[in-house]
Amino acid sequence: MGEKVYLFMFIDAMGWEILKNRDFLKQELPYRKAVNMQLGYSCTAIPTILTGQPPVVHKHFTFYYYDPQNSPFKIFKYLKYLPKQIFSRWRVRHLLSKMIAKHNGYTGYFEMYAMPFDRIQYFNYAERTDLFEPGGLYPTPNLADLLVEKNIPYHISNWRHSESENIEAMKQDLKRGDIEFAFLYTADLDALLHRVTKDGKEITAKINWYASHIKEIMNLAAENYEDYEMYVFSDHGMTSLAGTVDAKQHFEKLNLKFGNDYVAVYDSTLIHFWFFNNQARRKIMLEAQVLPHSHILNRQEKQKYGIDFSDDMYGEEIILMDPGYQIEPSDMGLKALPAMHGFSPEHHDSKASFLGTNDPEISVNWVGDYFQVMKNKIEKLKY
Ligand SMILES: [Zn+2]
Repeated sequence: MGEKVYLFMFIDAMGWEILKNRDFLKQELPYRKAVNMQLGYSCTAIPTILTGQPPVVHKHFTFYYYDPQNSPFKIFKYLKYLPKQIFSRWRVRHLLSKMIAKHNGYTGYFEMYAMPFDRIQYFNYAERTDLFEPGGLYPTPNLADLLVEKNIPYHISNWRHSESENIEAMKQDLKRGDIEFAFLYTADLDALLHRVTKDGKEITAKINWYASHIKEIMNLAAENYEDYEMYVFSDHGMTSLAGTVDAKQHFEKLNLKFGNDYVAVYDSTLIHFWFFNNQARRKIMLEAQVLPHSHILNRQEKQKYGIDFSDDMYGEEIILMDPGYQIEPSDMGLKALPAMHGFSPEHHDSKASFLGTNDPEISVNWVGDYFQVMKNKIEKLKY
């Protein structure tokens, strides 16, 4: 029988708007609140949760950044002459991503998405290492580094496995009673919400499914340990589609040459620009001011969101779409999805959730604060 175990469960996209009018484990997890997300996507939130630091420190904001010298996609300089249709297929892209990751020894979540093959050579890709492994966010220490340093027996899910496998793996470790800390990773709710939106009737069944597994996990902890605490949290919510904006068409009609005058990355809700001459900057920024349903992030916003990179790693200028408006086509997907995240953290649909059996003893206002909660508990384990 173990002494005490601290359990943390991550449910991707379980926003506050989805939970606030539901009874979801109200008795079991009485400490509950809405939390500000980190501007960006899960690829921004997860490094933030695992380090307690903003993007400007851990260097993960969105997937692509301008870095032609170190681009792992240099080979595409030559492949771009091959017929476009071959590479527009998701399967081909997925296989190529796997080959490049293997060739470079990448262990992170590496996917090319819909980035055009005549542009990809200009960019590097942020998530080259496994964020959850010790050293995965080097030089910023992450959760696993902390657990290893303190010599705590722990369980961290393998994000490559299905969420059912991850839940089962953690249950098995709890039955053995030899772990003292666990971080359980689940991500299927995110995919479901993208498909059916937060108003989809499938959501209730999925939320109930999580609730029954959480109860089982809590029962196992109670049976195999003298004491336990459990916390359940998410990285962001989900905003239903309000409309689409063909942003590429707006900037590509300006008679500027991609690669010579400027480069750009079009995420689903953010556009990143790097300029190579003043004329390009002026033309693009004039057009950016009239791009519908969007605004240019100012210096104060970049500071507030922790993305004021001194080297403009993720763009000299960044445009954020208004809540619900997706860029279509983007470099992440050719078609908008029924729902998306990555809008203003202030919007109610963006809010994440934090729930606990106990008072976390740390004020949790931003998803990066989860790390402080975990760190505080880990320090209690070491006598
Ligand atoms: Zn998502």
